[in-house]
Amino acid sequence: MMLAKRRRRRGERRVAAILVRNALLEIRLYAARSELYQGPGPVLEYIRMLADAVHNLPGGVLGGGERGNAWPGEGYHTFYWMWATASPAQKRWLVSQFQEMGYDHTYLDQVGAWPVYTQPATRLSLRRGGMQMPHDVASVKAVDTQTFARLATEAYERGLTGGKRADWLIAHLDPQGTHLVLPKRTDDVFFGAKVDGVWEYRCLLRMFDGAIVVGGLRTERASVDAVPAGLTRREQVRVAALPRGHDRGVYLWGRDHNATEPDCARCASTEQPQQS
Ligand SMILES: [Zn+2]
Repeated sequence: MMLAKRRRRRGERRVAAILVRNALLEIRLYAARSELYQGPGPVLEYIRMLADAVHNLPGGVLGGGERGNAWPGEGYHTFYWMWATASPAQKRWLVSQFQEMGYDHTYLDQVGAWPVYTQPATRLSLRRGGMQMPHDVASVKAVDTQTFARLATEAYERGLTGGKRADWLIAHLDPQGTHLVLPKRTDDVFFGAKVDGVWEYRCLLRMFDGAIVVGGLRTERASVDAVPAGLTRREQVRVAALPRGHDRGVYLWGRDHNATEPDCARCASTEQPQQS
């Protein structure tokens, strides 16, 4: 690794630890003494904004979760990602933190838009790294929108989604679409704690505009196992071996969607989740 990159990484690890600590301090304060909060907006929204801003840092930067990342920039991709996907309110908070620490973050703006997030692979490729070892093939499923909606809603009702409802996502799926549900590998990043009988799934979802994006599902294994495969065994193996890259996720799709369709009727009837 180049020296500049190593130096930048050291700096970002230190800054990440301080950001997570300071976010927790504020969250803890306002959770206990909400009357101290001065605004703008409701205190719960502020708390959620802080948690969303830093929640990838422990896994990515501090936990060394950047394995196999072809990030060409200096430092950590996770750190850049935090910056590149931050909302205006999150950026204001981050900038005030950076200034307090005397940390020069201007390089984060010089990277430009990287990487270009693309539709996830739905075909195997012969190029190097174009496939991965199939994993838990029997749990790979192709489901229709109704089935995905049922799984996601059930998961919310059973308290497995961290309080996040799937209504907005469900409303934006292609009603006639087929979606792929792939069990995460044991060394993938999990969003919730490991619980017996509960697993997380990486889903390739077809949206109403034809885009395929990656979304998460955290639910009971038995719920997914009970769903018919919807694929032949050979197709299950193929899907389980699909490469993963800089896949466009639901959050980024939603951001583009808000920009191109600010008056969307589907959005008007459901609440859009924050970054996850
Ligand atoms: Zn919409």
